[in-house]
Parts: sequence; C-alpha cells; structure tokens
Amino acid sequence: MARLATVRNSSWLVSAALHLLFLIILALLTYRLGGTERGLLIEGAWSGPDSTTPLESVTLAEATADNQSEQLDLPVEVDLSVVSKHVANASIIAPQQASAVQDNALVGLQTGGATTAAERVVFLGGGGLSARTPEGRKKYGDRYGATRQSEMAVENALRWLAEHQREDGSWSFDLRLSPCDGRCRDGKKANDDTPTPSTAATGLALLAFLGAGYTPEVGPYQEVVQRGLYYLRSTAAESEFGYDWQQGGSMYGQGIALMAISEALGMTKHEDRFDSDLYHYAERGTRFTVIAQHQSGSWGYTPGSPGDTTLTGWQILSLIGARKAGIETRSDTFTRAKEFLMSVREGPEFQFGYRTPKAEKTTTAIALTLLIYLGQTPGHTLFDEAIDKLAEQGPTLTNVYHDYYATLALHHFRHRDWESWNNQLRDHLVRTQATEGHEAGSWHFRDQWGDVGGRVYTTAMCALTLEVYYRFLPLYDEPPDFPL
Ligand SMILES: [Zn+2]
Repeated sequence: MARLATVRNSSWLVSAALHLLFLIILALLTYRLGGTERGLLIEGAWSGPDSTTPLESVTLAEATADNQSEQLDLPVEVDLSVVSKHVANASIIAPQQASAVQDNALVGLQTGGATTAAERVVFLGGGGLSARTPEGRKKYGDRYGATRQSEMAVENALRWLAEHQREDGSWSFDLRLSPCDGRCRDGKKANDDTPTPSTAATGLALLAFLGAGYTPEVGPYQEVVQRGLYYLRSTAAESEFGYDWQQGGSMYGQGIALMAISEALGMTKHEDRFDSDLYHYAERGTRFTVIAQHQSGSWGYTPGSPGDTTLTGWQILSLIGARKAGIETRSDTFTRAKEFLMSVREGPEFQFGYRTPKAEKTTTAIALTLLIYLGQTPGHTLFDEAIDKLAEQGPTLTNVYHDYYATLALHHFRHRDWESWNNQLRDHLVRTQATEGHEAGSWHFRDQWGDVGGRVYTTAMCALTLEVYYRFLPLYDEPPDFPL
C-alpha cells in the first residue's frame, strides 16, 4: 500500500504519463508499455510511411535512495492500473484529487479538450537537481539566460553568506550577532517579534549553496555546507511525531530546514550509496511536517493550526524535495494542500489570497507556482491567463519573495515572455548587489519581508532567483528535437 500511496500522491506523475500518452496519439507514435523492476517502461517507435524506427526507451522510475542524482529528475514509479484508470477518466488529477477537488477548473488538460498551448509544450519530468554541476550551470545558464555577471553575482552572494556563517554552523537573520557584529546594515529589524528562527536562516543559506551545485562533497564550500547541515541535525528536536525544526519560532523553520536537508540528501546520492544520517533526518522531518498539516490543508505558524499561503508554500516545496530524494509522504497531503490553495482563490480567475480569498500579488505568485508543482499543466485557460498576467505585470524588483516565486512559475512553464522577464530581473539584481566593503555580495530591499528577514534573507532569495536557470530543470518546455 505504501507504494500505491506514493503513486496516488503524484498528480504531476500521472500528468506526465498522460502527456506521454497524449503525445503518442498526436505524433502517431506506437508505444509498448511494460513494467520493469524500476518502473514503467515506455518504448517508442516512429511510424513513418516506409519503416518503423525505434526511439529511445524512457523509464519512469522512482527516485529511490540508491539512484543517481540524474534520476531525481524522473517522476516516481507508475502503477499501471492508476494510469489506465486515468486515461479512462481523461483527467490529469489523481483519484483522490478528482473526488476531493470539487472545482473542475483545476482539472487541467483533458483529452479532446486540449488547447493549442497544451499541445505546444510537453512535460519533461523535470524539476530535478541534476543540472547543479559546473557543466549544468554553463549549459542551462546559457540556454535559459544567465550571464557572466549574474553568475558572478551568485558567487559573490555565496561568499558573503559564507562570511556570515556563525561559529556553530548556523546563520542568523540578526546581523548584530557575530561574525557580522552589526557591520552590515539592515539585519532583522530591531524589536520585531516575528519569529525568525536560525533554522530558517540556516536552511535558506544552505539552499543558496546547494542551488549553485555546492554540496558537502563538491565545490569550494564543502566545509560551510557540512557545518550548516550539522547545525540543522543538532537542532532537530525529537518529538513523537518526528523531527521538529521550529526552534521556538514557527513552521517557517521546519519547512526551510527540511527543504535544505532533502536537497542535500538528493544531491549526495551516488548509485547505491547515500548519507543514511541525512536520510534519517529527512524522513523524520517529513513525518513531522505531514502531521503538522491543518485539516484545511494548510500549514500555520504552529503545527496543526490553520495556516496561510506562504507557510504552506515552504512545506509543500520541502515535501516535494523530500519525495524526490526518496522519502514517502502521506497519500492525501498534497491533495489537501491543493484544496487549501483553491479555498483562497478569489473568483473564477486564478488569483489567490493569504488566508482568505482576497487576492494579493505575492500570494498569487506563490499559489500559481505551487499548483504547477502539484500537477497543474499548461492548457487550462484561466490558469494560463493568470501566468500571463504574472509575466505582463513584470517583476516588482523590490519584493524578492514575489519575484522568486513568479520566476519559478515562468521558468517551469517556459513562458513566452521569459526573456523579457528574466532580462529585467536578472540585470536589476546584478546592478543592485552591494559591491563595496563588508556588505559586498549582499542585497537588501525595503519591503514587508525584507524588513523581517533582513540582509541574510534578501541575499539568499536573490541568489536563489539568479540560480533559477539550473537550480531546477523546467517542468514543461517546447518539444525537444526528439518526439518526447
Ligand atoms: Zn555583515
């Protein structure tokens, strides 16, 4: 049942399988579907007028703990009975989602009803971490719009972050503490009682290093990353529900720390070898997060409390990261999360609020990104319009929280306005990075979140934004040269 549970959970996987089947019909390809030890085997052949030419075989395999990092890009194992059921239903949504989500608007691509936009793009099974290598940075950076300057900005940001790592391996949003000792301006705002645990600051900084391909084993920051991960392990509070990284703060600490641990686990796997200790922490942390979900499907500041779109965002992304690293989650976690997101949607348009259906720009960018991860495909008119609107409005240039999520959404859909969006945001970030003195390499913008998280938060978020080209492979793209 555990495996089936995983499969049911994977609306994006079912989406992948259906996209493949859809393309099969479109491209007049003949395919043989079969099971292998590693999952669903799809063998293709191009039926031309004169001959049948075999294509590459594609295996959709579960990203188990003994797989190579490249396989993190692949969807999890397919249960053929689930797939065939879905073909019959002509829906991209997994069984429990189809029943749980009342709103047909969330049913994306339907066979027979597909729009041109959906035909234009294909599901790549992306979202994985395998481009996080020097070669990957070059290749995907060139392809999706990094520049020499933006890559230098990433390196400068990481250097600043490394210089602000504390003795115990942690980072703090409060720059009055050592090693900064207040030499940087704009730390966490004084007298602000918003919970900002060092588990969140540490996780965020680690994500910036991992996003550039720097792990405990690879690159110039091995010790920095090792010490950061060690800090997270040492601060994991043991509870009957698993490991808790709130650290007296909030579920922000939990989500961000788990995301960093999961990415580190995924990036340090080598065939049958993986860090069993990291696996242990990722598994127990996942358990805590899953149990902490409120019945509305959201996550709040404290476990089990009703939540909001931003906190829910970190938990969803951390759980998806954990699953890609081979950790199982509960079968209904993502369905319920999606229900929460749809409950804060204002009107028929895909515009979303924070806790209620009162749409805001940032929460809309977050929700759209999350829905893509939860299986929303291109081709649904209202959803596509919302993504178009995101692109049309352009980056805010000061609210890095909004811009980070919007960039992810546009990257994953390979939106037609990507170049203009990216040029504007990328060059703005390059221009606004501090270049002199102790602050060199950091950023700070005055806004709602920048004031709370200060320069550590803003710098990490800007670095993650400039890593978008290779940090996650896009989930959808124009069809590549071969028919899949
Ligand atoms: Zn400083």
